[in-house]
This record gives sequence, C-alpha cells and structure tokens, in this order.
Amino acid sequence: MITGESEFNEVFYTDAVAPKGEVIGGVNNGWAVAMTLLGFERGEAAAVSPIRYQAELDRLLLMAKERGVNTDPLIRQRLAWCHSKVQMMRYLGMRTLTQFLQGHQPGPDAAIGKLFWSEYHKIVTELAMDIMGADAMVPAGRPPSSAFGADDAGAPNSTNSWAMTFLNARAGTIYAGSSQVQRNIVGEMVLGLPKEPRPS
Ligand SMILES: Cc1cc2nc3c(=O)[nH]c(=O)nc-3n(C[C@H](O)[C@H](O)[C@H](O)COP(=O)(O)OP(=O)(O)OC[C@H]3O[C@@H](n4cnc5c(N)ncnc54)[C@H](O)[C@@H]3O)c2cc1C
Repeated sequence: MITGESEFNEVFYTDAVAPKGEVIGGVNNGWAVAMTLLGFERGEAAAVSPIRYQAELDRLLLMAKERGVNTDPLIRQRLAWCHSKVQMMRYLGMRTLTQFLQGHQPGPDAAIGKLFWSEYHKIVTELAMDIMGADAMVPAGRPPSSAFGADDAGAPNSTNSWAMTFLNARAGTIYAGSSQVQRNIVGEMVLGLPKEPRPS
C-alpha cells in the first residue's frame, strides 16, 4: 500500500463444502447476508468515531498553535470547517445510536456516516499536511496500526503519525465501499430516488 504496509492477501477456497444447517442466512441468500455485514461495517462506529475525530482535531489545533499558524485567517477558516464537520458527525452518530437503542439494525443509511467521515478525513489530513509544510515530506517510519486514520495517534503530532494518517485517509473513500457507491446507496435505498441507469 502507499503507506508501505502490506495489508492485502487473497484466499481461494476450492471445492469447499458446508453442511446446509451451517449456511448463514439460507442457501442462495448470500447477497442479503453481505449487505447486512456491510451495514454493520459502515455503521458500527457511528457513535464513537466522532469522539476519535474530535481528539484528532484537537491534536491538529495544538499543532497549528505550536507552529504559530493558528492566527492565519485561511488556516483558521479551514480549522473551523473541520470543527463544524466533526459536530455534524456527532449528531449523525447520536441519531444512529438512538436507532440502535430502539432496536433498528444498521441498514443502507449506514452509508451516510461512512461517506461523511471518509470524505472529511481526506480534507482534514490535507490541512495537517499544509500546516506542517515541508516537514510533511519527511519519510514516514512507523506505519499506523489500522486503516482507520483517527487511530493513528501513536506519537501525538509527530510528522510520521500525520503523514501516515494522510496517506491512509486516501483509502478511506474506497474501502468498505467507495464514495460513489455510497452515494448510489443513499440515493436509491435511503432517499428512494430512481435507480442509476444500467446497461440493458
Ligand atoms: C485499504 C483498503 C482496505 C480494504 N480492505 C478490505 C477488506 O478488509 N475486506 C474486503 O472485502 N475488501 C477490502 N477492500 C476492498 C474494497 O472494499 C474495494 O476496493 C472497494 O469496495 C471498491 O471496489 P473495487 O476496488 O472493486 O472498485 P470498483 O467497484 O471496480 O470501482 C472502480 C471505480 O468505479 C466506481 N464505481 C463502481 N461502481 C460504480 C457505480 N455503480 N456508480 C458509480 N461509480 C462506480 C468506484 O467508485 C471506483 O471509483 C479494501 C480496499 C482498500 C483500498
């Protein structure tokens, strides 16, 4: 990967057989099972990820202060934009948490949160790179522990930590379903808009 990590591998099962009773969701129902799984993957962190993104933004504010750019009006404007996005994420998270508490399972609406945090994270990490300036080009040494950028707080405000988080954030709008696909899901399955054109 662009971070230097090797996260991927591919596993092939040849002639694999499972007893009927152990088929999850019933035979020939794999798509529904996959969709349920993806709903959980995209929605499960809705309530806690705003907390992590707030902590990350706090570290960024500290770095801006340390580097004396917190009085730059353009940087301040971009920081304020980030603050407003994290607040929106907080309310989105509370809405999802309320739905969970009412017994609602994550469904297609989980795409809203996934789209929101991943697009936000690309922009906030770009801002971090701009705040660091040329320091951001220092070769990164320690890869982050996970693809989820806000986790990468191993060394607060170290150049490596931010640069790696920036690189990882590029993948955020691809994994767990790309932003384009999330928008399709929101459009078609949440808002009930007409389906995208398909080849006949
Ligand atoms: C860092 C990373 C970690 C990952 N981890 C996992 C993992 O743990 N498990 C796992 O199963 N997968 C994992 N993936 C795979 C990931 O889920 C897929 O890469 C992702 O869903 C996109 O699918 P694709 O690569 O086949 O792209 P494609 O579906 O081929 O898409 C290519 C491009 O076309 C666009 N596109 C595709 N369909 C449409 C459409 N209908 N409308 C508009 N635009 C469209 C996409 O947005 C994209 O820009 C990971 C990927 C990355 C980058």
